[in-house]
Amino acid sequence: MVGRLAPSPTGVLHLGNARTFLLAWLSVRARGGVVRLRIEDIDGPRVRPEATAQTLEDLAWLGLDWQGEVWIQSQRLAEYRAAAGRLVAAGLAYPCVCSRKEVEEAASAPHESGADGPVYPGTCRGRWRSVAEARAATGKDAALRFVVTADAVPFVDRFLGPQAGAIRGDFVIAKRDGGPAYQLAVVVDDAAMGVTEVLRADDLLPSTPRQLLLYRALGLTAPEFAHTPLVVGADGLRLAKRHGDTALRSLRAQGVRAERVVGHVAALSGLVPAGTSCRPQDLLAGFDLRRVPRAPAVGVPFP
Ligand code: GLU
Repeated sequence: MVGRLAPSPTGVLHLGNARTFLLAWLSVRARGGVVRLRIEDIDGPRVRPEATAQTLEDLAWLGLDWQGEVWIQSQRLAEYRAAAGRLVAAGLAYPCVCSRKEVEEAASAPHESGADGPVYPGTCRGRWRSVAEARAATGKDAALRFVVTADAVPFVDRFLGPQAGAIRGDFVIAKRDGGPAYQLAVVVDDAAMGVTEVLRADDLLPSTPRQLLLYRALGLTAPEFAHTPLVVGADGLRLAKRHGDTALRSLRAQGVRAERVVGHVAALSGLVPAGTSCRPQDLLAGFDLRRVPRAPAVGVPFP
């Protein structure tokens, strides 16, 4: 059994990240598996170079360890390019020169907008066989889109149970600058790392059917998925700066001990009574994902 932590070094880790990573770590380690670490540092301008070191520091401070080397996405661009090339060669992906604005305008009717952006109407599907051909014809750099022919990819989530897995519109697998989109990088990496369980926050639930299509198209074995609720503020909105500073490094700077933070997110997850201080390994015995509440966890400004 292999799990993974996959932080994006775009900011400092906060209580919400700590809780998701704790659950991902416990879910696999409690069953005798190993946890791997991948740094998702290819998200262009949002990535801050110093944040990778801070992320490793925060995880170590919490007591969330990992096995083996640290996988760094920016060092794996050739693998993503190769996978995208295989999909284009197989006719499963195509160059697309539409701008975001054009996609939005084409999908102006409200029902054509999915939860995660407008549905692509397929304008460029079948027009060119390669990015070079698209550039010669239009003078524009092309992204690559995956051809979606299914309406849904149902799957059973280990936490949420059976999911309809609705999916609409051809999605981007490589950006205009040639870099991979999140959906492709995550599939190529999870497969290469031998990941058998992906536990992540449920804001990524709409990505899972897309990723399942990519596993199939690339002939790779898909892991099991478990999506757990986000940590929200008292107003029910996703934890953010306005809810107070819940960055782990700020708590550490204030002298809060890691055991209190771990105990706090474990209590939010129904694993220990409020006020408990503990290390991740103290929670291994008897860990049961089913005890985690289905409702979003309300993280308070740290007590
Ligand atoms: N890097 C993503 C994030 O920090 C997680 C991606 C995933 O778990 O698939 O939100």
